[in-house]
This record gives sequence, C-alpha cells and structure tokens, in this order.
Amino acid sequence: MFYRDTWVEVDLDRIAANVSNIKRHAGFENLFAVVKANAYGHGDVEVARAALDAGATHLAVAFLDEALNLRREIKDVPVLVMGPIRPTDIAVAAEQDIDITAHDLSWIEAAAGYDGVPANVHLKIDSGMHRIGVTNSESFRKACEMLDAEANLNLIGLFTHFATADGCVDHYQKQLDKVAAITDGYDLSRFKYVHQSNSAALLRHPQQTAANGGRLGIAMYGLAPSDEFELPVPLQKAFSLHSRITQVKRLQKGDKVGYGATFEAEEDMLVGVMPIGYADGWLRYHQNRPVEINGKEFQIVGRVCMDQTMIRVDESVKVGDQVDLLNDRFSVDMAASDLNTINYEIVCSISDRVPRVYKRGGETVSVRNDRFK
Ligand SMILES: *Cc1c(COP(=O)(O)O)cnc(C)c1O
Repeated sequence: MFYRDTWVEVDLDRIAANVSNIKRHAGFENLFAVVKANAYGHGDVEVARAALDAGATHLAVAFLDEALNLRREIKDVPVLVMGPIRPTDIAVAAEQDIDITAHDLSWIEAAAGYDGVPANVHLKIDSGMHRIGVTNSESFRKACEMLDAEANLNLIGLFTHFATADGCVDHYQKQLDKVAAITDGYDLSRFKYVHQSNSAALLRHPQQTAANGGRLGIAMYGLAPSDEFELPVPLQKAFSLHSRITQVKRLQKGDKVGYGATFEAEEDMLVGVMPIGYADGWLRYHQNRPVEINGKEFQIVGRVCMDQTMIRVDESVKVGDQVDLLNDRFSVDMAASDLNTINYEIVCSISDRVPRVYKRGGETVSVRNDRFK
C-alpha cells in the first residue's frame, strides 16, 4: 500500500530471465545473486527470491546489516558478506548462518581464537584492483594456514574481483595471471567455492576453468556493465520509475518556475507538477531532462525540489496522468549518460521513499513500501 502517486515498477520475470540466460551462458554451477544496496534499488528480498527461483544458488551483499535483513526472510540459502566485517561481529554473522570474508592477515589475527558458532569464511585475493584482499602468495598461504588453525572458522571459499572486466582486456588478463601466480602450487580443490567473475566477466569471459562460480550484479537487473563490449545475451531491464500529474497551471510570458526562479516562460505556457524530488533520488541534475506522458515527450523545467518537480506540458496533459521518468524509452542508461555517471548509480539513488511495485506476467504481485509498512 502507498499513498503518493510515485512508484518504481520492478519486472521480476525479466530478472528471472536474465539470471537463467546468464547462468546458462557463463556455465557455472554456483551463481551468487548480488543483492547489496537493496538489490541495486530494486528491493533485496523480492529480487533474491526471483533470482533463486531462476537458478541462483547463493546471495551476496556488501555489509553484515544487509545480510541480517535478508536472513529474516530467506532461510536455508547461503548468504555471503563480500566486504569486511568487524572481527568482533563474527558471532552475529555465524548465528544467522551468514558467510563472511577474510580480507587480510591482521583481520585473521584479530579473529583468531573465535570460539562461537562455527562460521564459513571466503578468503579474498586482491589481484590488482587494490581494494580489499591478500596481495601475494606468501600472505595467501599464511592466511590459509592461520584459518586452518581455527577450529570455528571454516575456510570454504576463495574469490577475487576484477577492475576492468567491462573494459581493458589486458588488465583483466593480468588479474587472472596474478590469481594464478598467488595460488600457484596450492590445491584449489580444497575450496568448495572459487568465484571471480562479476557481471562483465560472466558475460564477456564465460567458462573460466579456474573457478566454479560467479557473482552476478548489474546484469541480473538487465543493465549492461558498460557499453564497451557487445552483449552476448540480451538483457531485459527490470526497473522503471513513474509518477502522476498533481496540478496543471497556466503561466504567462515572464513567469518563473521553481527555487531560484531559474526558468522563465518565454511565452504563455502550461506547467505540470509531479510529486517526486531529490529526496526520492530524483536528483537536481535531472533538471531539463525528458519524461514521457501519454506517449509524448516533455521536459522538466526549473530546479528539481525535494519532493516535487515541474514539467513543461501541453493541453493534452491532465491531472492524474501518468508520468514515466525512467522506462524503456527514457532509459536508466540514457539518464546515466546525461548525468555523466553509470547506470548503477541511477538505480541505487532512487531512495526507499519510493515504493516498489513488483510485476509478474504483467500483473502486480506485491508492493514494498519501506516508509510505511
Ligand atoms: C558489487 C560486486 C559485485 C557485482 O558487480 P556487478 O558489476 O554489479 O556484477 C561482484 N563482486 C563484488 C566483490 C562486488 O562488490
């Protein structure tokens, strides 16, 4: 239920199709559905369920809080926290059966002697992104040794992350070689899970022999990791953003619109108002961008306010008409390019003030409203 006519629609059929198409293409038995950041703004629990139904085997998030939230709803499926957690929080994770990441030797030292509920651990290798992870074969071996000495820490996974799987193939190859060098001579079959690929690598470099799993993020939502390579499987965009006109008014030549009075009517004209603003993640940068009403294109005028935005309209637009802000025509990718950013940032920015409406077979199957439950 929600009481303001502004909403996101998420097509769960499209998410399911993306998951199964990419899983088939990549050829891994283990597929981690990456649902961090509230599933890139799509809704974590709902997306996780759709992805699991479609063939994902694991869930992955960035923080422990995100994992704990998922675990309230989804039992019996492995959930991995890919980022570092506080060593003092291992018990909190383990008690909820949440898998954690060991990312350097000092973290493992701090975790040593942990005597709570046994925890599953994935070891992270930094192969050239220079974010988190052990960086050479000496610390890799030492980390394995130290973890093996811990009775209540089970080392079950090994992973790394690529910086340029969507772009520079040279750097990607260097990272692969680095993983091989760091793990050289070590029996990787002891790890139940070896996972390296993000969306870009799953699409572009499938069938990696050194791994048995991958982590699928942005492409699951139907968004391309970049435009630097041709997609080997079609992606279906799941996210769209909508509002409705709450008022239409007539301006006379010289009238000004919005904070700062930055837009001035050059002639008599009509302005429509819709109830969405920067507090919804509809950022001020969207000023002047196009929206669709009844199949026609109109332009946002004046500054985007915190809760409302104005549009230059014509006689055909009436109170109650639907406004499509992000859809197949005015896409997330187009908005990203207009705002000089990436599609990831556009969907993650739409805040939890905007309810998510879930579709299956064209019908609404559920609604999520995080501000009024
Ligand atoms: C976010 C993230 C992913 C998913 O990346 P996409 O490009 O969205 O597929 C995979 N692995 C790690 C470690 C991440 O942080």
